[in-house]
Amino acid sequence: MKTIPTVGSEVEVTVRYPNYNYFTSNCQPFNDTLFKGVVVKNTKWIAQDCFCVKTDNKVYPLSIINLSKVHDIKILKGDVAKMRKFKVLGTKGHTYLVTLSNGHYTCHCIGFQYHNKCKHITKVQDVVEKQQTSTA
Ligand SMILES: [Zn+2]
Repeated sequence: MKTIPTVGSEVEVTVRYPNYNYFTSNCQPFNDTLFKGVVVKNTKWIAQDCFCVKTDNKVYPLSIINLSKVHDIKILKGDVAKMRKFKVLGTKGHTYLVTLSNGHYTCHCIGFQYHNKCKHITKVQDVVEKQQTSTA
């Protein structure tokens, strides 16, 4: 399971993309890019498998990093947030996937895409909050 750093952490992320100029540039099959900065909260239009890093880059201060492209991640300061996934059975028998990462819930259903909230998330929130109060 991939982990993502919590908001406010200082990180060094190596992102690896396939090299499309494979044949012209030193025969390297990939390109690595290093991002160094502070993790900031995702805005709602960013996909749940991505996270944002604010870097020193003046032109592109905010980098959106896709977890699946992360080759290496070093947490210089801060913590790692585990991405938790929940399966919620909807009223019509469909199963919905709710993801919790960085205290931020997302769902795959249409309702969430439009309203940024839905009953599946409410269900999961109930369960998570109960777990937290029982361990406290
Ligand atoms: Zn939903």
